[in-house]
Amino acid sequence: MHNKTLAELAQGLESGDFSSVELTTHYLNRIKSLDDKTNAFITTTEEQALAQAKQADQLRSAGNASQLTGIPIAHKDIFCTEGVKTSCGSKMLDNFIAPYESTVTQKCNDAGLVMLGKTNMDEFAMGSTNESSFYGACHNPWDLEKIPGGSSGGSAAAVAARLAPIATGTDTGGSIRQPASMCNITGLKPTYGRVSRWGMIAFASSLDQAGPMAQTAEDAAMLLNTMAGLDLKDSTSMDQPVEDYTAGLNNGLEGLKIGLPKEYFAEGLNDSVKAAIEASIKELEKQGAILKEISLSTANLSVPAYYVIAPAEASANLSRFDGVRYGYRCEDPENLEDLYKRSRGEGFGDEVKRRIMIGAYALSAGYYDAYYKKAQQVRRLIKNDFANAFNEVDVIAGPTAPTTAFKLGEMTNDPVTMYLEDIFTLSVNLAGLPALTVPAGFADGMPTGLQLIGNYFQEAKLLNIGHKYQLATDWHKKTPEQFA
Ligand code: GLN
Repeated sequence: MHNKTLAELAQGLESGDFSSVELTTHYLNRIKSLDDKTNAFITTTEEQALAQAKQADQLRSAGNASQLTGIPIAHKDIFCTEGVKTSCGSKMLDNFIAPYESTVTQKCNDAGLVMLGKTNMDEFAMGSTNESSFYGACHNPWDLEKIPGGSSGGSAAAVAARLAPIATGTDTGGSIRQPASMCNITGLKPTYGRVSRWGMIAFASSLDQAGPMAQTAEDAAMLLNTMAGLDLKDSTSMDQPVEDYTAGLNNGLEGLKIGLPKEYFAEGLNDSVKAAIEASIKELEKQGAILKEISLSTANLSVPAYYVIAPAEASANLSRFDGVRYGYRCEDPENLEDLYKRSRGEGFGDEVKRRIMIGAYALSAGYYDAYYKKAQQVRRLIKNDFANAFNEVDVIAGPTAPTTAFKLGEMTNDPVTMYLEDIFTLSVNLAGLPALTVPAGFADGMPTGLQLIGNYFQEAKLLNIGHKYQLATDWHKKTPEQFA
C-alpha cells in the first residue's frame, strides 16, 4: 500500500479498496516500527489522525469527499497546527503548543487530508543537513549514516521511507529541493506569493515559501492544488487565479526551449552527479525539447547575497523569542537583561546564533550600506539575469545540489563549505521564481535531483515537464531497501 503514489491512493479510496482508517493505521504503524531509524518525525498525532480518518470515511460514504479526503500527510514542524506542538526544530519552541492553524495546514484540513504528525527539520529552517535540529539529526533512508538534506529533511525522509505518501515543506534557499534531491523524491518550490506564509514560523520573510513534497510530479501538482491561493492574512500573497495544476501534465514537450546555464555545469559539480543530470536532460531532448546553452553570470553571487539577506531578516524575525512572550524561558532570571540573555542563549542552537549575529552585524548602522544594501543590489542583478534568460528560453535546467548526500557530521564544523552546497538553489529564492526537483538517477549509489526553474507562476509548466520525464523513467519509483 505504501508504495502507491498519491494519485493511486486517492483512486483506491474512491473505489473503496481500503478506507482512510485502514490507510492511516498502515502509515502510523510504519512510523512506529521504522521511524527509529530515520527520526523523520518530531511529533506523531495518532489520536487526531484516526479521528480525522474516521471523519473522512464518513464524508466519503455520504458522497461529500474531495479528491484528497482521507489521504495521510506529514507537515513540516514549521507550520502552526492548533493544539499540537510546533517546535520549528528548536529548544526555544519545545514547549510551544500553537494556538492557531496556519493557512497551509488549514487548507489541507479543509481538503480532508489526515495529519500523521510533524516532521524533523533544521532549527528554524537554517541549514542544509537537518543536523541543527534540537531533536537530533534525521537520517537519510538511502544510507542511515548520511544526511537527508535540509532543512525539510524530515519531510523528505518521511516520503522517501514511505512513512507518509506526501508532505509539506518550506524553501527559503533550497530546503524543499535539496532534501528532495538527496532522498529521491519530488519537491516544488512555488513562486514567491503563490502559497500563503501565514502561520508558518518566519525565517527570512522575503524568501520563505511553502510547497509540496511527494513521490511524483503528478502528486505534487495535486497537493499544490490544495495549498495554493490568495490569502488576505499574508500581505505578500498574490492575487493570481489558482489553475488546476494537474490539467496540463500530459502536454508534449516538442519545441520546449530549455536553457542550460554553463555556470551550473562548471567546476565544483561532482562528476557523477553531472553525468546523471546530463542524462536526464537528454531524456527531455528525446521528447522534443530544444537545448540551449545560456549564461547566468551572477550565479556565483547568490551565496554571498543570500547569506547576508537571509540572516538579516532572520535576526529581525527571531527577536520575538525573548523569554517573555512565549517559548523557552530560563530558570530564575536575576533581572530583565539576564532573562533575555539566558533565555536566548539557552534556547537557540549554534547555527541560529551564528545567523542572528551575522544578520545583526549586516544591519547595524555602520555596515548597512556595505553589506545589506549591497546584497539587495546584487539580488536585483540576479533577478535581471533570470529575466534575460527567460527572454531566450522557456525553462532552465540543471542540478539541484553539487553533490549527493554526505556523511552526518562531515560539515558541522565547516559552515562556509555547507553554505556553498546551496549554490544552485539560492538564486531561485532571491529572484522569487518557482523550481521543481525530480529524481534523476543515482550517483555512486545515492540519489540526485534534476532542478527545473520556471518563470513566475509557471508551476504548471514545470510539473508538466516533471511528469513527462517520470512517464519515461522510473527513478522516482525506487525505494530504499530497508523501507521497501
Ligand atoms: N540551506 C539554506 C540555509 O541554510 C536554505 C534553508 C532553507 O531553505 N530553509 O539557509
